[in-house]
Order: sequence, then C-alpha cells, then structure tokens
Amino acid sequence: MLVAAAKRRRIERRPALLLAALATGALVACRVPGFLLPEGELLRDVYLRGSSAVPTVALTFDDGPNGRCTEAVLDALAAQRVQATFFVLGANLAAGHNDALLARMVREGHTIGIHGHTHRVRPLFHAHLIAGEIHAALEAVDRSLRRAGVPDPPRVTFFRPPFGLVTGITARAAAAAGLALVEWTVSVGDWQAGRRADEVTAAILARVRPGDVIVLHDGDETHQRSEERCVDRGVAAETVGLLVPALAARGLAVVPLGELLGLVAR
Ligand SMILES: [Zn+2]
Repeated sequence: MLVAAAKRRRIERRPALLLAALATGALVACRVPGFLLPEGELLRDVYLRGSSAVPTVALTFDDGPNGRCTEAVLDALAAQRVQATFFVLGANLAAGHNDALLARMVREGHTIGIHGHTHRVRPLFHAHLIAGEIHAALEAVDRSLRRAGVPDPPRVTFFRPPFGLVTGITARAAAAAGLALVEWTVSVGDWQAGRRADEVTAAILARVRPGDVIVLHDGDETHQRSEERCVDRGVAAETVGLLVPALAARGLAVVPLGELLGLVAR
C-alpha cells in the first residue's frame, strides 16, 4: 500500500516537473511571459491587480535602471505628475552608473521593487539560488542609494521575478525575505523591436480596466547600452506621455502600486 502510494505520488508529480522543464525552455527561447501553477499556498502572497471597483491603475517598469532611458521615463512621469514602480535588477546597479537615477526615484515618490539580480530563470527553481538573487538585489539597491546620498533608504517590499515566472520555491523565498510578489495584468510587448509609442499606447488602451497593473520596460535585462543616450527602450518614456492623459480621459488615475493593491494606507 505504502509503496503503491509513493509510486502514485511520483507519477502525479511528473506532469508538473515536465511542465516546469518545458516552460523553462520556452521562456529562455521565446521570452514567453509568466504563468502560474497554484499548488499549495503558492499564490497566497502573489498580487496581480487592484480592485476593479476603483478607477485606478498602476504603471510599472522592469529591467532598469538603464541610463538615459530611465531618465527619460522619470522626466515623462514628472511631466504627467504621476508615480510608478521600478522593478530594478541588482546587477544594473553594481557599476554605480545608475545611482543618481535610483535616488531620483526615491526623491520623486516612486517605488523601488526588485526584479532579481541577474534576470536568470534557473535560480527560480533552486531555493539557495533564488535566496541569493534576492539578497544580492536588495543589497545592491541599498548600497546604490547610500552611495547617492540617501541616508535612510526606504525598505523594498515588492519582488517581480524575471518573466513573471512564479515557482513555489520563489514564492517561499520572497515570503522569507518579507517581499510581496507582484505580477501584472497588462503587457503588450513594448520590448519588441520596432514598436512605436502610439501602437503600444493603443494596445494598452484596448484592454485596460480599472485595477490593472501595466508593465513597460525601461531596460533590457542586464544590458547597459544607454548610458550616453537611450538606444534600446525609447518607447517607454514616449508611451508615458501618451498613455497617462488618455487614461485620465477615461477616468482612470495612475496611482502608486502599494495604493492600488491596498497594501498601504491611502
Ligand atoms: Zn524582465
């Protein structure tokens, strides 16, 4: 009986393992966005969106900071008088080139979350690796802000895994580090080569609903090609300039992520 039960458990586990292996290959090969397997308490601390009864949305930016591209996004957000969340990669802070941008985010009321240290998928399946990624990214943010003269950096509370891929191992590591996992509900492939800001804006407007979390990209993983001028993510800043007024015209206000998700007092 016991042997039969153990064998059955092994067989039952196989589809999930196979799916995970296939998904890893697909993610690496095609940049397919994340998916969720809600086993156990996997989704307990995963946040997707705010209330659909409140006419607000949140803007989030992944893969930065990235030199002039991030600077342009900050300029656009300031011009529109809205605040966003930047899911940064620790590795992008290591060289110190983006310290002033990170400090500006804090100064201008934006939220800093982490997106991992290296943007690799493999650590998401290994407890010690993902714990190391989270620790390294948090350390990098803290060191960068202190270098830039922010004496008491705000605590980072949000983690968006690379590709939005949530595994049980990642969820447990995030919880252990006191981080909430935050996904998105609107992604329109702004990172694809050749996209124009008006197209990206139209695609977002075609699907956006109250409570949505919108993802855009101010960086391209750990490639740092925009120190002198924004060469790889120019569409993000221009999209902000088009999108925020269009959302307002529909009665949708852009609010900080913590407020949208009900995680901070309004
Ligand atoms: Zn990313």
